[in-house]
This record gives sequence, structure tokens and C-alpha cells, in this order.
Amino acid sequence: MMGPSHALSGAAVWLTGSWALDYFADYHQSPLALAVGTAVCAGGALFPDLDLSGKVTRNQGGATVARTFGVFSLFVAEVMEKISLGVYYATKLSRDPRRNNGHRTLTHTIPFTVLVGWGTTTLCTAYGKWAVVSILFFMIGLALRGLFDKWAERAGWVIVTLVSAAAAWFTFANLPGDRGYPMIGLAVGVGCFVHILGDMITKAGVPILWPIPIKRRMWTMIGLPNSIALRTGSKAEVVVLRTALTVLSVLAAVGLVAPSVLQRFNIEV
Ligand SMILES: [Zn+2]
Repeated sequence: MMGPSHALSGAAVWLTGSWALDYFADYHQSPLALAVGTAVCAGGALFPDLDLSGKVTRNQGGATVARTFGVFSLFVAEVMEKISLGVYYATKLSRDPRRNNGHRTLTHTIPFTVLVGWGTTTLCTAYGKWAVVSILFFMIGLALRGLFDKWAERAGWVIVTLVSAAAAWFTFANLPGDRGYPMIGLAVGVGCFVHILGDMITKAGVPILWPIPIKRRMWTMIGLPNSIALRTGSKAEVVVLRTALTVLSVLAAVGLVAPSVLQRFNIEV
């Protein structure tokens, strides 16, 4: 799956989940909280691909998401890729193949998803709004890169960085203070998990069972069989899947916001 599909699936899952919580569990979120959660989940849905590094010194290559903040994020991707490769070799069993890069390994596992969600929550609890503003800056940047890929490409990483900083600052100024912000950690974790599912329906598959050893392999790649797997960049992905995800997001957003708007104008439903 390509960046925009990943980001869109993160947004769709967060909005639909929020709608379900609102409708069935009577759990309401403010419009700002909804927007923040959606952006963070969309960004989180790109985060695992920050393990695809390029050439830092020449500022080339890497996953689109690795180019969000120019050479800075390319460098982060380089480090993440090497750590992933290190973990791969440290835990590999006799039947796991040799690899020369760490893409689609550690960052595409359930323990990583949980770790990132828990780490985010811990940071928010320990450092409050300052952690929130940094995490938002980073995640909004990834989300912009994913959701508005054409714009981001034209605008370049400096503009993307400035817009993320402004959006993060606006949220920082308007978010009520002194809370735990548990939804941010949850949104990052859910985003990462949605990414893994997205990669599972494409050909290559992901090591979702790690660290459970199967037939002397720790890194069994699990995905749909080739005959039904989604081809990256195919019409099915770019047209059908993205349209469906957009419609789902819009419906959920309308379902979430409409009742309070109608109520404001005293319209009974
Ligand atoms: Zn991936």
C-alpha cells in the first residue's frame, strides 16, 4: 500500500471508531479532540514505514514518509532501519533468511505497536502539554505528507514542517491542560496497527506473529496469497480502496458532528 492509502485508512478507522464510541457507548469527544485523534492516527498509520531509509548524505530515496522533515527524518529512518536489522539478526532462527536491510521487520510487529502506543502515553503523562505538542508536530507532519501527498511534494518539506508546527501550536494553545491525554497514545498505536493490516493485504506480507517461532522461523511473513493480494499502486488500491475509505471517513465525521450542530439550532432529530 502507498502512503496516502495508509494515512487514509488510519483516519477512517479513528473516525469510525469514535463514531461507534459516541453512538453505542455515549463517549463524546470535542471537535478539536476528534481532529487531533484523526490526524495522529493518520500519522501513526505511516510511522512503521519510517524504517525505509534512503541516502542521508545525498538526501535521496527512502519512503515518502521518511522525507517528511527532509534530511532529519531521513536520518531517523536510517537509524530505525539499522535498529530493526539489528533486532532481526539478534532474534533470527536458523530458517529465517539473511537480510541486508531492516524494512518491514521490527516496526511491522504487534510488540512494536504496543511499545509505541505505551511510550507515547508515558511521555504525555510525564511531560504533559510539552510532550503533546512535540508528538503532535511530528504526527501532523506525517499525516500531511500522507493525506495531501501531491501538495506536500510541491510544497516541499520546509513548508510541511512549518504547517505542522503551526497546527501543533494551535492545538497546544486550545487543548485543555493537565490531563493524561491517553487518546494520543491510543491513536498512535491504532495507527501503527492499521498500517500493519494494510501491508498484510498487499503481496509482501508482514511478520505479524513475531516473536512467536514457527518451524524454526521467528520472522514468518504473513500476507494474503498472491492471487488475491492487492497490488501496490493498482486501480483497486488507488481508486476503489481510497474512495471507500474517504466515504467511510466523511460518513463517520458527519455522524459525529451533525447531532451537535442540529442541537445548536434546536432542530429535533
Ligand atoms: Zn509498511
